[in-house]
Amino acid sequence: MSRHDKNSINYNETFICGNCGRTVTPPESGSEHRNHCPQCLWSRHVDLRTGDRRSGCRGLMEPIAIWVRGRKEWAVVHRCLKCGFIRTNRIAGDDNEILLFTLAAKPMVLLPFPADRTLKDIYSKSAYGE
Ligand SMILES: [Zn+2]
Ligand SMILES: [Zn+2]
Repeated sequence: MSRHDKNSINYNETFICGNCGRTVTPPESGSEHRNHCPQCLWSRHVDLRTGDRRSGCRGLMEPIAIWVRGRKEWAVVHRCLKCGFIRTNRIAGDDNEILLFTLAAKPMVLLPFPADRTLKDIYSKSAYGE
């Protein structure tokens, strides 16, 4: 194994997911950083800044939302259970798509107000306006 003392950390190492217990192996492409579990999408608070692994927290990070960056790039928003730190991580090609979908759909499924009324409002006020 090569030393990894260049400028950051080797993300491409095998780790055990702290949430579901899965053994997570490095991505096959080698180009992506693996910073969350592809099976349950949970992460661990190990960075102060992306990739530095200098946080002493080590709390589990729950996937709480999807952030669409740019046009089609998805990132998972993670929140640390221990300290509340929030960060985003790009999704990987082998992430659990059902869970990603569920995460993205959650706010629409659990609306805090009546959807039908809101949709009527949107349609009646909408600027299709001709
Ligand atoms: Zn997991
Ligand atoms: Zn933390």
